[in-house]
Amino acid sequence: MKAKLALYLLLLTMLGCRDQSDFTDQKNNMVVAHQGAWKTDGLPSNSIASLRKAIALKCYGTEFDVHLTKDDVLVVNHDKDFYGLDIATSTYDELLSKKHPNGESIPKAEAYIREGMKQNQTKLVFELKPSNLGKERALRSADLTVELVKASGADEWVEYILFDYDAAKRIIELDAQAKVFYLNGDVEPSQAKADGFYGLDYNMKVFREHPDWIKTAHELGLAINVWTINEEEEMQHFIDLGADFITTDEPEKLLTLLREKNK
Ligand code: MG
Repeated sequence: MKAKLALYLLLLTMLGCRDQSDFTDQKNNMVVAHQGAWKTDGLPSNSIASLRKAIALKCYGTEFDVHLTKDDVLVVNHDKDFYGLDIATSTYDELLSKKHPNGESIPKAEAYIREGMKQNQTKLVFELKPSNLGKERALRSADLTVELVKASGADEWVEYILFDYDAAKRIIELDAQAKVFYLNGDVEPSQAKADGFYGLDYNMKVFREHPDWIKTAHELGLAINVWTINEEEEMQHFIDLGADFITTDEPEKLLTLLREKNK
């Protein structure tokens, strides 16, 4: 009887362990949900609901876009405007007059990160958007971003992606451990490596034009993410080329493809 109980307890422990995924359990997981996982359930992109869905799917990462308001609040939204209100020239309170169709207000990056930190499987891929208002605001947004991530204790969760090379370099300067990827596609792997980047996160067209960059980047120790890939054939193409991550609006499709491949 005792032996049976011991076996039962052992099985329970093993099952429990399997559920306790963490960031070390990411082998073969290359899926980054673009603006969260919103498409299948018709959720607003960049909403807390789309973040929760990407986490429920167990994506490697979930990407989100961050802008700075007039009164220095980092908020999560794709476009420069939130339902007609220009974010850079509006205060956070002014933005609260609009809501997503699911009833959510525009999330503060702080709340988004706090929600993401309730788990430790899916990374938070923080895209800091360039500023319309010039370099000074872009650098200010980079300073506030690092400050927020540090104050939240979110270093283990957050990876950064940026189009603005100077703002990206500012993040690297402020935090040498930060994992920063460059988005704009106009910098060669060797230059990005020299400037302290962790990886390149380029549009698939860039890697089609420079097919050697994936190999060169890997030789330099840089990680490669490709965006935004929604067709199965293209997913397969970049898996075969050895991309580390694929950003997609169709995370379920890519997860299924990878599961089939790893069977
Ligand atoms: Mg983005």
